[in-house]
Amino acid sequence: MNKPSGKPHPASTNDERFKALLKATSDVVYSLNPDWSIMYELDGRGFLLDANKPTPEWKTRNVYHEDLEMVEAAIAYAIANKSIFQLEHRVNRADGGIGWTFSRAVPIFDSEGEITEWFGLASDITERKLAEQSLAQSRDILEQQKRTYETITSGTPDLMYVFDLDYRFTYANTALLNMWGKTWDDAIGKGLIENGYEQWHAEMHEREIDSIRETGSSIRGEVAFPHATLGRRLYDYILNPVFNESGEVIAVSGTTRDVTERDQWEQRLKESAERLQAMNEEFAAINEELTSSNEQILATNEDLTAANEALLDAKHTIEESKQALRLAIDAANFGTWYIHSVTREFITDARLKELHGYYPDEPLTIEQAIAQITDEYKDYVSQKLENAIYNNGDYDVTYTVIGLHDQRLRWLRAIGNLKSDPSGAFSAFTGVVMDITEQKMEDIRKNDFMGMVSHELKTPLTSLSAYLQLLEMRSQGNTDQVIRRAISQSVKQTKRMTDMINGFLDFSRLEAAQLEVSRSDFDIANLIKDAQEEVTMLYSTHRFIFEPVESQVINADKGKLGQVIANLIGNAVKYSAPDSMIQVSCTSNQDEIKVSVKDQGIGIRKEELPKLFERFYRVDNNNLISGFGIGLYVSSEIVKLHGGKIWAESNLGEGSVFTFTIPLK
Ligand code: ADP
Repeated sequence: MNKPSGKPHPASTNDERFKALLKATSDVVYSLNPDWSIMYELDGRGFLLDANKPTPEWKTRNVYHEDLEMVEAAIAYAIANKSIFQLEHRVNRADGGIGWTFSRAVPIFDSEGEITEWFGLASDITERKLAEQSLAQSRDILEQQKRTYETITSGTPDLMYVFDLDYRFTYANTALLNMWGKTWDDAIGKGLIENGYEQWHAEMHEREIDSIRETGSSIRGEVAFPHATLGRRLYDYILNPVFNESGEVIAVSGTTRDVTERDQWEQRLKESAERLQAMNEEFAAINEELTSSNEQILATNEDLTAANEALLDAKHTIEESKQALRLAIDAANFGTWYIHSVTREFITDARLKELHGYYPDEPLTIEQAIAQITDEYKDYVSQKLENAIYNNGDYDVTYTVIGLHDQRLRWLRAIGNLKSDPSGAFSAFTGVVMDITEQKMEDIRKNDFMGMVSHELKTPLTSLSAYLQLLEMRSQGNTDQVIRRAISQSVKQTKRMTDMINGFLDFSRLEAAQLEVSRSDFDIANLIKDAQEEVTMLYSTHRFIFEPVESQVINADKGKLGQVIANLIGNAVKYSAPDSMIQVSCTSNQDEIKVSVKDQGIGIRKEELPKLFERFYRVDNNNLISGFGIGLYVSSEIVKLHGGKIWAESNLGEGSVFTFTIPLK
């Protein structure tokens, strides 16, 4: 090496060759004085401006001003350390633009080791530098994008992942790692099974990845599997192909969304839609019901209107009937009255006053009205009246009054009716009174006539009966059967006729209130025995059973009780078939004797039973059987006169039992 000096160093032949080599391999060749203040020469090769003479201003000429400081620092360092200068920096290009150069300069030393010269090479690295810069920029952008994506993928609850074609995860977002409960390092590069997927699930995705690779199209599906913390969930996933520049599938990216709740919502939505539908149907049904009940209400309304009209009509009719009733009452010449059960206020019309012999405008109290009743009926009517007003008893009474002013005897029949006030506080007792004097007189006349006829008939009948009995006794030895039979039949018929006439006589006496009982002591067993004998004589058609009777003395009208028994037996015979059985019994205890006659005859309907003892009452169905309907009436009156009771027990077609009791004291 040459000694360093301020002059340019003459190049040797070797140097020339060396430089030629350098020029061939480098863009720029330069040399500088030891402290870099003067550039001896520079072969710019079109990249930098050449310097053919020592150039002290080379720095400003060649170095880009912004890099000057850096270049000087590097120079200073190289000088101080006597080391190789090596630096990439910008330069002012020969064409006026800015370029990049990689510059290296080696110090050349003299024998004392001092730097005599710097010899440098610089290459144009502008293109590489620019490429590097744009690469760095792209990296920045990529980095930026990656951060953005990372933010997006880690911020979403959706699961995001990328598979390579060997089914390994090359990417998994935070949500997916969380779900697995794994870190990135644990999970990435692993397959499905390794990341905890069940066999079937892993195989399913592997098949899908294969299919995407082949077809290049996406796959969407739903799958349910257990989450690390949330339990069994439902997922909706989409797998997409990732293509390279030549359109080949190089990976498969996927997004999975937990749709458990959406599914539940959908389910609930479906359920509530169904409920809604059901409710709708119910509503429709209710609506229909409402409509029909509406129609019913309308119909009822119409009915009500009709009923109202009917009511008005009825009211009208009642008014008319009331008027008609009043007219009828007037026409019938009825007297009417009203009694207030609490105040005993007594309102009467003029006709009633007239019937009691009062003047029409004269006041009449209830007591005054009763005072006019004849003694034999006074208590009876008063009792019936009180009983009707306070016990709602029946009130149909016939009695006689003597008129106050006219002193006329009148037969009156009063019929009354008790009506409770809706408040229940009192009752109104109203009724009509009719004058039946004329009918009564007529009845009395008939009755008297009947009594007279019976009486008149009785006298010859008694002697007829006596003659017949005599004849019967005398004919007992007679061999002529016909005569004997004729006589005995005559005795029987006369006996029947006597009974009948006695019945009429008793009836007429009853009507005239003249029937009397003449009591005497006798043994009831004897009375039954007499009856038995009479029956044996009179009736051969039926079978009789007379129960044994204990003797019991009784104080009563023997004849009349005998009449009652005969009547009951006679009826039993009349109303039962021949050959049937008739049973007569008589029992006694310390209070009373009781006589019953039981038959197997036609029987009597229950509702008829109480009416049998009324006068002239005959049951409808017995028209073929003769009778007057007075036998039971007379019998019951006789029993009553003895203070006893009489009744019948029967059912139609089942026979009857007639019973009476007579008290012993
Ligand atoms: P009659 O003269 O009609 O028999 P009664 O006063 O003796 O009148 O009886 C009244 C009615 O009672 C009879 O017409 C008959 O219908 C009914 N009757 C009385 N006794 C009997 C009986 N043993 N069996 C059926 N019906 C009877």
